[in-house]
Amino acid sequence: MGGTVTINEDECIGCETCCELAPAVFQFDADSGKAKVVNPTGAPADEIQAAIDACPAGCIAWE
Ligand code: SF4
Repeated sequence: MGGTVTINEDECIGCETCCELAPAVFQFDADSGKAKVVNPTGAPADEIQAAIDACPAGCIAWE
């Protein structure tokens, strides 16, 4: 846990779970229909980890 958080947007299914759990870090992009990282340091690591753990597509990771 730690480092920079990234989303593999090819695998994101746009469920918005990460955006709800850590809204300062992840935002839903209506154009692409996927989430994106807007501020990788916008939340404590444990909050980001909760979003990683909850992502149904398993497409959020520490880099
Ligand atoms: S939780 Fe995962 S699948 Fe859902 S919007 Fe976020 S990155 Fe995409």
